[in-house]
Amino acid sequence: MKFTVAELDQEAVDFDESLAPGMIDFVEEMRQVGPLHAAGRADLLKEHRGPQEIVADIRVRAALQTQMEVPCARCLEPVVEAVDTTFDLLFRPTGVDNDGVDRSITASETEIGYYEGDGLLLEDVLREQVLLALPAKVLCSEDCKGLCAECGRNRNTDPCTCATTPADPRWAALQALDLQARSRVKP
Ligand SMILES: [Zn+2]
Ligand SMILES: [Zn+2]
Repeated sequence: MKFTVAELDQEAVDFDESLAPGMIDFVEEMRQVGPLHAAGRADLLKEHRGPQEIVADIRVRAALQTQMEVPCARCLEPVVEAVDTTFDLLFRPTGVDNDGVDRSITASETEIGYYEGDGLLLEDVLREQVLLALPAKVLCSEDCKGLCAECGRNRNTDPCTCATTPADPRWAALQALDLQARSRVKP
């Protein structure tokens, strides 16, 4: 779905879209599970920057819900993560802010992006918002044991013997000494 400046100049556009997996290209290691639902409004805001200069900004406000499958940060197994977010964004024409003047006038309420040509694709906005809404680190469970650093096996499902090799008793003795020494220097 594309919002064009010409169309928004006539009237605001209300949308209520359900996008099937595949309609938005996500980065390779993540996959949309089930439909992505987005409902909101796009309208045009005209910034009067001088007697001659009017900048046409596209504002998009919406609520968005979907489910994404992303790899666990430790064991790389797929994890389904729910995304449920709202956003309020302002898009300016590309290049209009290249005069070095700080224009972050209403940045407290709205964030600034840019659109190219005659308008903005809703799919592009949604892709970015889904990526922003996902946690930086997704875990399959809080106590995921991850992959073995020695043999690379998934230690949750395929316990290996590398990790269970008992530590050398001589090191254990040294560690005990070290702990004693440290507790002694404490005031
Ligand atoms: Zn995991
Ligand atoms: Zn191992």
